[in-house]
Amino acid sequence: MASLKLKHIYKVYDGGVKAVNDFCMDIEDKEFIVFVGPSGCGKSTTLRMIAGLEEITAGELMIGDDVVNDVEPKDRNIAMVFQNYALYPHMTVRENMAFALRMRKDITEEEIDKRVQEAAERLEIVQFLDRKPRALSGGQRQRVSLGRAIVRDPKVFLLDEPLSNLDAKLRAQMRTEISKLHKQLQTTFIYVTHDQVEAMTMGTRIVVMKLGVVQQIDTPTNLYDYPGNKFVASFIGTPQMNFFDAKLKKVDDKIEITFANERKIVVPAETFVKAKPEYLDGETLVTMGIRPEDVHVEEEFVSSHEETALECNVGIIEALGSESILYCELDPENDKGTESTTRLVLKVDPRSHYELDQKIKVALDSKRIHLFDHETEESIMPRIPKENQIEGVVKAGVVDLNGIKFNLPEAIKLEDGEYKFIVPSDAFFFDNDVNEDESFEDSKYAEAFEELKPHFASKGFKNPVHPLAHNDFSYSAPKGDKEFKVLTIEEVGKQKLLRLAFGNKSVFAVGNNDIAQDAKTVKADIDWKKVTVSKADEVVVERLNLYNVLDSQMIKERTDKKTFNFGLAVADKELYTNDFIQEKLFNAAGRKVFDIKLELDFSPYAVKFADKGFDGVVTKILDYGKEKFAEVDVKGKLVNVLLRNEDVKVSSNVNISIDICTVGIVEADRGIRVI
Ligand code: ADP
Repeated sequence: MASLKLKHIYKVYDGGVKAVNDFCMDIEDKEFIVFVGPSGCGKSTTLRMIAGLEEITAGELMIGDDVVNDVEPKDRNIAMVFQNYALYPHMTVRENMAFALRMRKDITEEEIDKRVQEAAERLEIVQFLDRKPRALSGGQRQRVSLGRAIVRDPKVFLLDEPLSNLDAKLRAQMRTEISKLHKQLQTTFIYVTHDQVEAMTMGTRIVVMKLGVVQQIDTPTNLYDYPGNKFVASFIGTPQMNFFDAKLKKVDDKIEITFANERKIVVPAETFVKAKPEYLDGETLVTMGIRPEDVHVEEEFVSSHEETALECNVGIIEALGSESILYCELDPENDKGTESTTRLVLKVDPRSHYELDQKIKVALDSKRIHLFDHETEESIMPRIPKENQIEGVVKAGVVDLNGIKFNLPEAIKLEDGEYKFIVPSDAFFFDNDVNEDESFEDSKYAEAFEELKPHFASKGFKNPVHPLAHNDFSYSAPKGDKEFKVLTIEEVGKQKLLRLAFGNKSVFAVGNNDIAQDAKTVKADIDWKKVTVSKADEVVVERLNLYNVLDSQMIKERTDKKTFNFGLAVADKELYTNDFIQEKLFNAAGRKVFDIKLELDFSPYAVKFADKGFDGVVTKILDYGKEKFAEVDVKGKLVNVLLRNEDVKVSSNVNISIDICTVGIVEADRGIRVI
């Protein structure tokens, strides 16, 4: 039994193919994870890296509590099942199943027999134990290879397209058997397939990949209901979702959708409450999606949904037995065949009767309409909307947002007038916010810091910067203190999405999971550092940059003794690093490590003034009321620093130190996150 952590995993093959790009995922014990996506998207490569059959270019793989990047495949306590079974042809089924156990010295012959027998019974292959693989069918061979994995009692099962070589009927049967096996064995399964039906029916969570990049990780139902982009929407579900170019226009409490040759349907504005207003201007092109099963032809539905009703002509009829698929044409005069942008596919009762070219009336289920940005193809109704746009009137430093008054902090100085305030949904403090320190989960960082201390006294570097301990960066998060009425609460992953009554309108606010599901009110406040203000579409106040970046390079210096100090050259000084950072850099870049351009990134909370730090000059003081920051020029790069009661002024010379325990490092040219 084991959990797995994949942290910023990359695979770059010789020749430069980036097969896997920044794969991040926590897999819990006993999950059934499916990697799915078209051929070449990097599924197998990821699985093979977990198995240890492929080297990890950058990133960290943990099985249980251990980092296993450098652990031999045989010592990872995993078992892999391959598409082509990979059985030894000259051995019997029994010998094949026992083979890996015989290699181990710690298991008696008696125990091996027992395990093989048990697995064979479980898989119903007892009668074949003394046959050779060639005397078995494809399905039976795949059972043997499953059996060979089971007898090893691994912590993690890896399955690479195990059913691809089987015929459709057997595949369906084996799908249920593998799911059953997962339940019985109570271990973690990771399963690779290009078949979305396998993914949807077997996975507790699914990872959809495309061109080496994870598109979405979610439960089957959530992927189906809330696809994050058009690719996921089109990949999950058969027949594929219908897509149309469309324009949306808000008219009072309705939204008109114009699509496919000026056809118009109308839905309640509430349906698209999560979409940004600029998409609702009647001009911006979006992609509308509707699944074939959400287009209804039943008379009762159509007559009660006149506002989303459409007429179309029946083209192809595909009778599948359990259901029929109608390929209809909204614009029969201009039918351009399968490529048509006016084609509408729907599912109907197989017992109903339709004729070619018959005119039918259908209606769309407006709650099931999906919308995507026409260019980026990202959903424009993400489960957690990114921001709220609020019109505000400023008078003498006080802003009126929908009838609620806020004193504007010093950092947001505005002349009297009307402005648009863009308040991200994560820009709210709550009174139950805790000082979560998510990026700092491993004590090994702290240990690594302790390891550094002896280096401080050595004389390797000319201008060394001494890092501070992680604890020196602790701070206490501000709390919200204004009462808001809660309209709705939706649980999304580990977060709560709240819709708060906000004056005469409402706002979306992301809160922590401790907020009670039935909370009627919450205490909250706006986190002004994340707010952008614009006037007549010109940004007049930018949000605070929370992502500091400094250029760097790995260096080494001989110490007094005949050893080396390794460090990072940053802003004309040298930052001591620990073995942990060095190891990662060496692993990713090999001997080229001293020649490559690196970028260190860190938040304003992971940097502070310190005696032996980088030289900088304060260029701005940004007072947000509950928090204050200094903008510091470090050799031409601007760095934002949280002020912890330090008394500095513009033009003050300062030294700053960064928290090496939480710093991120990107290898700039290849765009690979090393840490
Ligand atoms: P999938 O399993 O999703 O079909 P793979 O993980 O096999 O995809 O491959 C991902 C990408 O990496 C593809 O572009 C493939 O051509 C490339 N690739 C796979 N194996 C190698 C290899 N040994 N050397 C170079 N490129 C490879």
